[in-house]
Amino acid sequence: MASPIPIPKPISGGLILSYKCQAECRHCIYACSQRWSADWISPEDLEAILRQLSGKIMSNVFGPRTTGLSYGLHFTGGEPFLNFDLLCTAVEMADRFKIPSTFVETNCFWAFDDDTTREKLRILKRKGLRGIMISVNPFYLEYVPFERTERAVRLAIDVFGRNVMVYQLEYFRKFKAWGLRDKVPFEEYLGREKKEDVLRHAEFFVTGRAPYALRRILGELIPSWPAEYFFDAPCDTPMLRSWHNHFDNYGNYIPGFCGGISLGDCRELDDLLRAGIDPDRYPVLGFLLRNDIKGLYTFARGLGYIEQPDGYLSKCHLCVDMRRYLVSCGDFEELRPGEFYAHLQ
Ligand code: SF4
Ligand code: SF4
Repeated sequence: MASPIPIPKPISGGLILSYKCQAECRHCIYACSQRWSADWISPEDLEAILRQLSGKIMSNVFGPRTTGLSYGLHFTGGEPFLNFDLLCTAVEMADRFKIPSTFVETNCFWAFDDDTTREKLRILKRKGLRGIMISVNPFYLEYVPFERTERAVRLAIDVFGRNVMVYQLEYFRKFKAWGLRDKVPFEEYLGREKKEDVLRHAEFFVTGRAPYALRRILGELIPSWPAEYFFDAPCDTPMLRSWHNHFDNYGNYIPGFCGGISLGDCRELDDLLRAGIDPDRYPVLGFLLRNDIKGLYTFARGLGYIEQPDGYLSKCHLCVDMRRYLVSCGDFEELRPGEFYAHLQ
């Protein structure tokens, strides 16, 4: 019997209220969309997760009332403002458990007018939320009229002051300078941008839906490599880290940004941290953590996985493609939530 693999205690991260989103961004690492089931986290699971995160989550370096992207706890999705009442409940509960440096991550689709936008932000602040992260890049722009993003940024600064993070500010400035209004299809963005600047400022992970969608639209602009190129790339660092992990509405403890992978049940976080990962019971985790991508590749090939003739854009592309195949072969408990794999393309 292989020895268990220890999981570090989480000190920051995001709570996914559901994977449902009014958008379906081409770069979404969690493959969120309108088509996901509206399985919002239950109050019982919310409480179980927050109680066990209490005392573990650490504050931003400038204190518990301030926010930073990889500090504290953020509420996310999907789009958390789709269920504003639940978001309010989560914020209140986190405050009750004295979880520091909380913020909400949003695409701002809901910022229809000044009055309701200001009111929602004030309500969240009153309930204990410390800040907000507003998402801006050419992919969100396809689904959110830019004037709503501008409104949310302007009013969020009034309400949360310095605890407003615009991610990514370069795009916000650029879209403002371009005088954008309404939604802008990605193809139109490509037409406005100099070829060498396309996605130059974009920070995102080529995993989840991104590699499939980007290959279709960007084609020769992005290089690809055969599977072998990624064989020695290690996954223990991004998977076994204490910061910026995610906890979802199904109780999955998702390592870092590895959408579709579950380290175990975060509703029983303390037990999970005590027990660690059993590589015999969860072979995908065992291969990724002990034998890198090559280990998972050998395992998947043994089950009939066929390498993509066009190659892969990243090691995470190869990983998610193999996992997508594996869920079609059997029930791997560590490949959760199952619906993730149905929404990749
Ligand atoms: S990236 Fe964000 S806004 Fe876009 S589909 Fe995913 S969760 Fe929704
Ligand atoms: S290759 Fe897979 S396990 Fe490794 S970091 Fe990427 S998504 Fe996570």
